Amino acid sequence: MDALPSFDLVRPRTLAELIEARAAFPDGRVLGGGTDLMVNIRRGIVAPPVLIDINGVRELRDIKADVRGLEIGTAATLAALAAHAGVARHYPVVAQAAGHIAGPTQRNMGTVGGNLALDTRCIFYNQSEWWREANHHCLKTTGEICHVAPKSRGVCFATFSGDLAPALLTLDAEIDVAGPAGRRTMPLADLYIGYARQDEPVTETRGDGKFFLSLRHGEVIVAVKAHNTPGLRSAYDKIRIRKSIEYPVTGVAVALRRDGDTLADLRVAFTGTNPRPVRLSGTDKLCGGPLDARVFAGLDALVRDQIMAMKTTFTPGHYRRRVAGVLARRLAQKLFVL
Ligand SMILES: Cc1cc2nc3c(=O)[nH]c(=O)nc-3n(C[C@H](O)[C@H](O)[C@H](O)COP(=O)(O)OP(=O)(O)OC[C@H]3O[C@@H](n4cnc5c(N)ncnc54)[C@H](O)[C@@H]3O)c2cc1C
Ligand code: SF4
Repeated sequence: MDALPSFDLVRPRTLAELIEARAAFPDGRVLGGGTDLMVNIRRGIVAPPVLIDINGVRELRDIKADVRGLEIGTAATLAALAAHAGVARHYPVVAQAAGHIAGPTQRNMGTVGGNLALDTRCIFYNQSEWWREANHHCLKTTGEICHVAPKSRGVCFATFSGDLAPALLTLDAEIDVAGPAGRRTMPLADLYIGYARQDEPVTETRGDGKFFLSLRHGEVIVAVKAHNTPGLRSAYDKIRIRKSIEYPVTGVAVALRRDGDTLADLRVAFTGTNPRPVRLSGTDKLCGGPLDARVFAGLDALVRDQIMAMKTTFTPGHYRRRVAGVLARRLAQKLFVL
């Protein structure tokens, strides 16, 4: 195993101290539970000289969930989120997604902020230094080509695999972000800009896959919020290689509303498939009738169009796309008959 390089550790106690530390150490990285960042440091993927630990900032650890809405501080742990009675009762999709992340050890350490800002993953990238060196690295780090798609011309297809984001996207969640320029609120969906397109220039709202979060320099995610939608039923499920301690091959969040025998609202979001979590667009056109073969065929078509089939994990890309559709169907069916 590679030795951990040295770094300085800064431990702010308040949000103001946290923002100050971000400004004082521009090359520093925010440290949540470290369950992904420390692994990447050990593998030589990143080497920040300073880590800014947010766990001492008390105001970032609160979780509030009731019939009006949900508000989660980003230093709250995944274990606390999964076990929160208000979250489980009113926002089951969020509690279930949190409970599906990694294993108990990672959930006790891992934070909501770290999960939302998780680095993207790929079989050629999440490897030891010597393994990547033997393959001349790849363009997400210091190499010149993408091993998944050698003709990708600067585009990276590494997949976003955080389980919480799709769950929160089905609730139309927003995030509060704080930085040197102040505090702003934006839709969670706008945080993710990994479009992996080479036919469009990289902008603040559309990234090339290597660039996949819209956070500005020195910004930290401080909270995630959502309103309650009366009558919305929601659930999360995922396929993984091992039944525990494992990233999703694909993770699916579904939320729907039923009005008598009619499907009144359908929201479906995926993780583990694209360089960003994907909330399917076009599901509104499937509503207005019963949950029948027409809806399932429509759902399959949307998945085929919007879910990427690149081989970035140990399973073939087309398998991932296939099971994404199957999981979405199963969850929709289960929620409709509840
Ligand atoms: C064996 C194993 C299995 C895993 N399985 C899963 C899985 O099934 N599903 C899954 O989703 N994840 C999985 N993970 C990854 C990880 O454990 C979780 O995603 C966890 O939630 C990361 O949170 P953290 O607080 O530990 O993040 P950290 O490692 O501390 O940080 C991750 C990234 O987020 C940034 N960051 C942290 N907090 C903030 C913030 N508030 N604002 C802005 N940036 C921030 C960091 O700078 C870093 O870039 C697994 C990890 C391991 C080791
Ligand atoms: S998709 Fe390509 S560029 Fe991105 S991490 Fe994998 S091999 Fe590297």
